[in-house]
Amino acid sequence: MPRESKASKRERAVEVCRRLDERYPDAECALVHTTPFTLLIAVMLSAQTTDAGVNKVTPELFDRWPDAEAMASADVSEVGEVIHSIGFWRAKASHCVEASRMIMSDFAGEVPADTELLQRLPGVGRKTANVVMNNAFGVVEGIAVDTHVYRIATRLGLTKAKTPGDAERDLLDLIPKELWGPVNHEWILLGREICDARKPLCDQCPLSDICPSAFKPVKTAKAKGKR
Ligand code: SF4
Repeated sequence: MPRESKASKRERAVEVCRRLDERYPDAECALVHTTPFTLLIAVMLSAQTTDAGVNKVTPELFDRWPDAEAMASADVSEVGEVIHSIGFWRAKASHCVEASRMIMSDFAGEVPADTELLQRLPGVGRKTANVVMNNAFGVVEGIAVDTHVYRIATRLGLTKAKTPGDAERDLLDLIPKELWGPVNHEWILLGREICDARKPLCDQCPLSDICPSAFKPVKTAKAKGKR
């Protein structure tokens, strides 16, 4: 297959955004939150866990520790008890309390509205910072690349990156900034509903005519000889 030019890839990326915008006009953050702090904590808890699983534990969590001040003085093991149904709960409980302490000590009790400062908080990486900046502060400085966005971008041939961080760089280069905002929510919905990790429903996909992976066998770790 001839190598696709950058211009053609950009055109395709824009078309992907256009079609998914049309398909999911009301896409929004599925994590229940009411403040920048509750959003931050919910996003931190969502790593390697479904949003539905997070939404089950956050009502009690935020009832007991509604803000950084309360969470900063929480007992880590008590936080762990509340969130123990989600993956990596021990580390996440510790990060919730440590991040809250830093918010109190370094940021006067307010979640910082700054991508770089957010990433100084324990347990906060670039993906979490992007989600918080976009959804809590309405500032779009990047694209939150989670497992769905990463898989779809790879299948669409928009990135060959080995990590979500590198995939984000490729997407930022291909997609005009004014289109970055909805990418995370809309692509996640496509990943959940249609572009499944194991069984993509290409016959139902609005991108099948512009996706180089459409109707091709899914490459699994086993198929690639990996464990
Ligand atoms: S055509 Fe298939 S592989 Fe490509 S994005 Fe759609 S569901 Fe995924």
